Amino acid sequence: MPLFQIPQPTRFDLNFSVAGIRVRVHPLFWVIAILFGSASLNPLSILMWIFVIFISILIHELGHAFAFRRFGQDSYVVLHLMGGLAVPVSNGYDGGYTGLTPNQNIFISLAGPFAGFLLAVVIILAGVGIGGQLVINVLGIIPIPNVVLPYEFGTLNRLFDMFVFVNFFWGVINLLPVFPLDGGNVARYTLIQTDPINGLRNSLWLSVIVGALIAIAGYVFLQSIYMAFLFGYLAFQSYQALQYRF
Ligand SMILES: [Zn+2]
Repeated sequence: MPLFQIPQPTRFDLNFSVAGIRVRVHPLFWVIAILFGSASLNPLSILMWIFVIFISILIHELGHAFAFRRFGQDSYVVLHLMGGLAVPVSNGYDGGYTGLTPNQNIFISLAGPFAGFLLAVVIILAGVGIGGQLVINVLGIIPIPNVVLPYEFGTLNRLFDMFVFVNFFWGVINLLPVFPLDGGNVARYTLIQTDPINGLRNSLWLSVIVGALIAIAGYVFLQSIYMAFLFGYLAFQSYQALQYRF
């Protein structure tokens, strides 16, 4: 949410709307998609990764945007270098005060990851529908359902794999109680409700501790330097926020 700055419009933006929700894709968005895809040097794989990341982040942010709409709050979606944002618009101001209750904010935060889970389930069901077999893969300690299509589906099988992996794995990661992930917002609104005085501070400490633990676990169990860096950085950011605000 609004912890990342909203990038200014450029003439290279891609603009469209989905069911009345405006979507703006900043040109640098394609950079992360290409970086993510470029681990494989096969041009078809790179294109598939770009497609999967674009659709998956779009669905995630639309989940937030439709949840905003459910509570009568206007919003639009931006895809940018750091991923995506659903930005509420109040009285013509972007990201301003919305007047939503904590429970409404929790619902809106959860709607993003769950939109992704729904997409993954739909893809698995479609795979089973065309003769695929349901399997459970375990990544580190996270079980991830998947579907294996019959051999003749070759490329489609890879595409399904990417969709299911991205939506389940990132959905779970996004639900961790670390700022500014969706789970961090859920933790904040939950803790503020149970303790209006110390809730925000407690949620920041939770973010520091869980962020640091995930950084270590990502490195030890998943051998992921990327996760170690990302969560180490997020934990550090929350620690800085604690120093600054309290
Ligand atoms: Zn989200």
